[in-house]
Amino acid sequence: MTPNAATSEYTGVLNEHDAETIDGGLTNDIAPLKEFKERKFSLVWRSIIIFAYTHMAAVYGLWLMITAAKFYTFLFAVVLYLASGWGITAGAHRLWAHRSYKAKLPLRILLTIFNTMAFQDSVIQWARDHRVHHKYSETDADPHNATRGFFFSHVGWLLCRKHPDVIEKGKGIDLSDLTSDPVLAFQKKHYLILMPLACFVFPTIVPMYFWGESFQNAFFVAAMFRWTFVLNATWLVNSAAHLWGQRPYDININPSENPSVAVFALGEGWHNYHHVFPWDYKTAELGNYGMNFTTAFIDFFANIGWAYDLKTVSTEIIKTRVQRTGDGSHNIWGWGDKDQDEVERKHATITNQLNSKRQ
Ligand code: ZN
Ligand code: ZN
Repeated sequence: MTPNAATSEYTGVLNEHDAETIDGGLTNDIAPLKEFKERKFSLVWRSIIIFAYTHMAAVYGLWLMITAAKFYTFLFAVVLYLASGWGITAGAHRLWAHRSYKAKLPLRILLTIFNTMAFQDSVIQWARDHRVHHKYSETDADPHNATRGFFFSHVGWLLCRKHPDVIEKGKGIDLSDLTSDPVLAFQKKHYLILMPLACFVFPTIVPMYFWGESFQNAFFVAAMFRWTFVLNATWLVNSAAHLWGQRPYDININPSENPSVAVFALGEGWHNYHHVFPWDYKTAELGNYGMNFTTAFIDFFANIGWAYDLKTVSTEIIKTRVQRTGDGSHNIWGWGDKDQDEVERKHATITNQLNSKRQ
């Protein structure tokens, strides 16, 4: 880790080498940078109309799913939700934007297909926005700056032109690791053909062909509703998980631990931890697979050898950071934690002791 705080304008931590201290913090006081200046929004009406239609179509799709669609269509929509969700969480986010693990070619291809089903722009574009989000978190250079409120950070940022700082700082982000990947380059180059096929045509055709579903049910449930659902789950990480929840790792930043978001976003709601240690492939310290489906996905592929070099933060470093900047809501560390209950200590069962004295 090279201390470079004096010369940098970093407002967040992206990779290991950006960290200024052993526990992944910054030596600079970044508080004065966390603000937004008044701005005049330049609305993009095309996007407003498209997203308005999308959400109406999604509500209709939900209605059809409950009242008219075949059970297999519902099941298929759930499978597509997981797949396209993983395309964002395990793919664009943890693998490509943060490089928190590595993936062999078959997994990169699979995740690119899943990612294209999610239609959140190409991985390269997504990762650039996300790297800027971490590096300049909650400043004008943050594409979905949550200090502008829930609506802006949720969807509003997609309905207006980008702040000039976002474009300016985005240019300084190194994306060479992604542009040099032929799979990602292919996705970006042919996005306007691949995306409609993966996100809309495939989800509509499969239920119609294999179990005789109507076009209407297939399109509105498996394509429109499922797509919009995944969009909103992703957006909640930028909005709700930047506003509400506890901050056990760093009280000075807005990203927070939000279990409800974690459930819908397949494990991406542990956002206080994630902004403190963005290179941890679990994006969380604790939690089980049920609250972190994406970790389960990555671990599965690690078991069959397609995912490797999974990076995670050591308990010691987390402990140092929690003690230094946490809001006090962190659970106890384990045996010997200063907050550990005396009764719990007294009544613990300790087997295989070397001597009778507890230590
Ligand atoms: Zn964030
Ligand atoms: Zn991230």
